Amino acid sequence: MTFEKKCLIELDDILTIQYECDHCHSATVVPIEKLNPEQSASIAIHACPYCGTPSGFQIGTNELRHFSEFSVALRNMKGVMAGRNLKMRFGIKCEE
Ligand SMILES: [Zn+2]
Repeated sequence: MTFEKKCLIELDDILTIQYECDHCHSATVVPIEKLNPEQSASIAIHACPYCGTPSGFQIGTNELRHFSEFSVALRNMKGVMAGRNLKMRFGIKCEE
């Protein structure tokens, strides 16, 4: 018999999104219910407020649009899935 450990999270488990600068590791944390596309885009296009390193996103690109849409879709999906007989779970890396 083989056992496989699986770690899953549900949408209701996700409370915040953390945007972290990969250079200095300062972070901005936004509650899921407060996400909006303008705020997400603003975080993405501005350089890190602590060390000044650019994020790498450019205004008007598909990448920036996808970034903003993902944040808002995550917020909206929590409401879409509430009370349904279908669960959406995300597999995450398990600690050994
Ligand atoms: Zn930084």
